[in-house]
Amino acid sequence: MAEVSLIKSILTCKCPRCRKGRVFKHKNPYHRKFGQIEEKCSVCNFVYEMEQGFWYGAMYFSYAFGVLISIPIVILLLLKTDLEIFQITGVIFCVLVVLSPILFRYSRSAWLHVFVWHDKNLPEKNSD
Ligand SMILES: [Zn+2]
Repeated sequence: MAEVSLIKSILTCKCPRCRKGRVFKHKNPYHRKFGQIEEKCSVCNFVYEMEQGFWYGAMYFSYAFGVLISIPIVILLLLKTDLEIFQITGVIFCVLVVLSPILFRYSRSAWLHVFVWHDKNLPEKNSD
């Protein structure tokens, strides 16, 4: 089976250890329960929440992703429109609210991949 890259594993929210099992219970990031995380990987049985409060650190990634998204929008709106800064702030707020479920998932996925490295020697097992 082809090796899954680190970036693809983060973007598809896969288990950081085997890169096959799903981290989130629902595939759709706009599902009503978009934030529900599987207790453990269905492929390698890795427990995702390694300690209580583990996910708090994902806020660092969420903040960074928010800034990375906001900066180009601010620059674009300042250069191409006559909007005032408070209007641009409103646009950024709306964009970040709409993208928040996606940012939530990617930040948690990235946070998980910081602490858990891919184990290439795991036995092969079928995933979904
Ligand atoms: Zn796994």
